[in-house]
Amino acid sequence: MDLYLYNSLNLKKEKFIPLKKGAVGLYTCGPTVYNFAHLGNLRTYLFEDFLVRTLVYNGYKLKRVMNITDVGHLSGDMDMGEDKVEAEATREGRSAWDITAYYTDAFQEDLKLLNVTPPDVWCRATEHINEQIDLIKTLENKGYTYITSDGVYFDTSKFSDYNRLSHLDLDELQEGARVEKNEEKKNLTDFALWKFSPIGSKRQMEWSSPWGIGFPGWHLECSAMSLKYLGETFDIHCGGIDHVNIHHTNEIAQSEAATGKKFVNYWLHGAFLNIAGGKKMAKSEDNFLTLDKSLVKKGLNPLAYRFAALQVHYRKPMEYSEDSLRQAENALESLINQVAALKDEPGQIDEVYQVDFQTAINDDLNMPQALAVLFKMLKSDLSDSDKLAGVINFDQVLGLSLLSQAASKADIEETDLPEEVKILLNKREQARVDKNWELADSLRDDIKRAGYNLEDNSDGQLIKKI
Ligand code: AMP
Ligand code: ZN
Repeated sequence: MDLYLYNSLNLKKEKFIPLKKGAVGLYTCGPTVYNFAHLGNLRTYLFEDFLVRTLVYNGYKLKRVMNITDVGHLSGDMDMGEDKVEAEATREGRSAWDITAYYTDAFQEDLKLLNVTPPDVWCRATEHINEQIDLIKTLENKGYTYITSDGVYFDTSKFSDYNRLSHLDLDELQEGARVEKNEEKKNLTDFALWKFSPIGSKRQMEWSSPWGIGFPGWHLECSAMSLKYLGETFDIHCGGIDHVNIHHTNEIAQSEAATGKKFVNYWLHGAFLNIAGGKKMAKSEDNFLTLDKSLVKKGLNPLAYRFAALQVHYRKPMEYSEDSLRQAENALESLINQVAALKDEPGQIDEVYQVDFQTAINDDLNMPQALAVLFKMLKSDLSDSDKLAGVINFDQVLGLSLLSQAASKADIEETDLPEEVKILLNKREQARVDKNWELADSLRDDIKRAGYNLEDNSDGQLIKKI
């Protein structure tokens, strides 16, 4: 069956045709590891996981690369401001290397809790300094660079169709140049390939280069690492929609200027998670919510967030609220109950539902429609065993661990709990409904004293005898 994806490059849904039959090269921009990932960031990684699983479901062999930005991402988009990692290191009184290692681990833990398939290649900017320097040398030899007092810059006026992805009117942009502070830049859209360490101060992360001691510009790492791991041209590149105008536009410019070849065939971008009436969730704002704080610590199943993300098409904005998360958890819970009630061995997947499901996901990852197919199948008069086969098949893409969550539910029900523990469990359930987290936590302690551990994990609530 054909797969259609919305390509930001051409602003339309296109039939996906890979460069090499049956194989896909995919690059997904990774996190800047100076803080925890927030739910907005995680929405983007979830959308990319829906893509990954859809490609695998369609039989493609995938090579997926994700970078870890551990240096060079400045607080201002115009190559000005502080390095986010070094600034956080100063704030926390730890080394920049400690900070990036710590937040990389935390990010990878979040992905696990959300059942996000890990990439085949993880690559860090700081481990690819030579590749980045080599890329600048190539660009310099081809005449695309110039040097200012604070770094080596890419001259965007030398690159034709610089706006091919952003579709922005560059003249209009130039109009806005009055706000630009970097007087030495030749064009507003020029960007740093290499920044010099500030005179008179030593950065924690800095390297020598043919142009002086410093560090790579943020956009460069993705070009250098995708070139290394996926080649000069590859199939799909993804990120959040905020990357279209600057980060991905600059990746295209420097990659294509260096190789003379088309960089990427399909560009996919996920819409934002917003909060409080359309405001983007951002690390720099105080609306920053993590998976740990907003789900795990509150005893909510982290996969409820995955379920919530499945309910909204990836190109539509998603609005966060605690209530919507709780509704998603209830809906997921009811789905798990329906699966737990299927009392048979898996049989044959029904062909009509299978085709409907694949048609949905192959229509630019229409996950809300794919969920609707699942619910319709569960309500149908198919046998339990055929329904079970459908659940197993669809969950390869949905990634909700439906079978194991249903099984752990059965465990709890079958456990012969003492009356006293059942009462405590009910009280805790009520406390959670009332959002009384303090009481919920203290009831968990009471349950422990009664000899049972209560775990809230990705498989739901598990009660086990100590
Ligand atoms: P960063 O760690 O800031 O480099 O961002 C990591 C990823 O999260 C990028 O692909 C961003 O485009 C994406 N992102 C940032 N904020 C949001 C948001 N509120 N909703 C969805 N994706 C976001
Ligand atoms: Zn990138």
